[in-house]
Amino acid sequence: MSGTKQSWPLVFEGWHFGVLGLGNNGLPAALTLAVMGASVAGWDDRPDKREAAAQAGVSICAPSAMKRLDALVLSPGIPHNLPRPHPEAAAAIAQDIPILSDAELLYRAVRAAGSAARFVGITGTNGKSTTTALAAHILQRAGLAVAVGGNLGPSALSLPLLGDHGVYVLEMSSYMLERIVTMRFDAAAMLNITPDHLDRHGNIGSYVQAKEAIFARQGLNDRAVIGVDDAESRAMAERLGHGPAQVIRISGENVQGVSVDIWTEGTTVRDFSGAIVNLCGASALPGAHNAQNAAAAAALAQTIGVPNVVIAEATRHFSGLPHRQARIAEIDGIVFINDSKATNADAAARALSCHDGIIWIAGGIAKAGGISALAPYFPRIAHALLIGAAANEFAATLSRHHVPHTIVETLERAVCEGLAKARAEGSKIILLSPACASFDQFADFAARGDAFAHYARALVVNSGVC
Ligand code: ADP
Repeated sequence: MSGTKQSWPLVFEGWHFGVLGLGNNGLPAALTLAVMGASVAGWDDRPDKREAAAQAGVSICAPSAMKRLDALVLSPGIPHNLPRPHPEAAAAIAQDIPILSDAELLYRAVRAAGSAARFVGITGTNGKSTTTALAAHILQRAGLAVAVGGNLGPSALSLPLLGDHGVYVLEMSSYMLERIVTMRFDAAAMLNITPDHLDRHGNIGSYVQAKEAIFARQGLNDRAVIGVDDAESRAMAERLGHGPAQVIRISGENVQGVSVDIWTEGTTVRDFSGAIVNLCGASALPGAHNAQNAAAAAALAQTIGVPNVVIAEATRHFSGLPHRQARIAEIDGIVFINDSKATNADAAARALSCHDGIIWIAGGIAKAGGISALAPYFPRIAHALLIGAAANEFAATLSRHHVPHTIVETLERAVCEGLAKARAEGSKIILLSPACASFDQFADFAARGDAFAHYARALVVNSGVC
């Protein structure tokens, strides 16, 4: 097979799949598995999703009602264990029917189709999407046939069949990694670990275990790229250091006493042979956290054989992803920054560490620990504007640390108040970096970011008048 796209052969003929959850992952999974020759029954608890899937040609039936079921494909958002298993998942487990992620089935399908295309996987608590998009961008600039997606979208089974020289670049969430069985990554990266999603994983130990699964089944010729800027990840690098895959330790910093292979000095990402890329010109990758992402993407690209000169050029021209520290509007030198994707405190810390005199918009549904861990960054905040369900909790934390704040409840008010506060305080940055999930007020982080951009741009059009 060449490197270009092919159409899928009937690799799953004779297989019977149940697909539970007919959203962005499940609907394409059901349709593609059928194209691959399988019998597929799709199910969703929401009648509107069932109806849309039926209209798209999916046969609707609860997987537990199928006469034969070889595997259940469960959308990442649906639990099979904690906090409580979905009844369909519980029924599959009771009958020893494997629960698989769509990424596992993509891998099996690619191999069954006879393609030797390589797989690159990226996980970590924060930075997955950025690193996935950046790594794919570098490989594309190197002239390779690349299919990029997974957790970041498009979903794994929406991706095309690539030939032998193609490369899949997949963002792998911990939920997807819990449901892979045979999948092996030629090059995989685990960026960092801070507590997140513990409602689903139960404790940090099983969260770490899920992340570590990205390196399962790797052999001598594979590469395990591991960020060593936090203790859990350093311990993982230690554990995997004995092989068989070669471990490449990467860092967005230059910490003495920590063994590293690719690290950051000032704005330069480098290895022992010299500079790989100077991030000075890479405006979409601000801060040490993005240096970590750039180091990981460089390590993955080097593994695939991309020369440093291409890595440097592609990294500098990377345009970034929306909702991650994106500058979206400016009025009288005051810049609105949309970091809606910062859904936990650690992610918000990264944005806060990049600026001073910040008008900070935060709140939503808080994660365990709230914003207490952000105390080292509080001196950078000129005024905090609090929205959503977490507003009272965050106000209490900020009061304890004497950080000026106002509960404004809605994002619309936050934008308006934000400009007034920025003018009064002489601040140049209005930063939405909520440290919270968005579901109390918005459909998702993207809807929250879009709303922020809309209000900010409307304010610019109205010359700053609310
Ligand atoms: P993910 O896909 O893992 O959620 P993203 O690339 O979408 O990660 O970035 C989400 C947020 O996390 C960003 O808004 C940024 O503030 C923060 N972030 C990005 N990369 C890192 C990193 N390497 N370490 C810590 N925080 C990061």
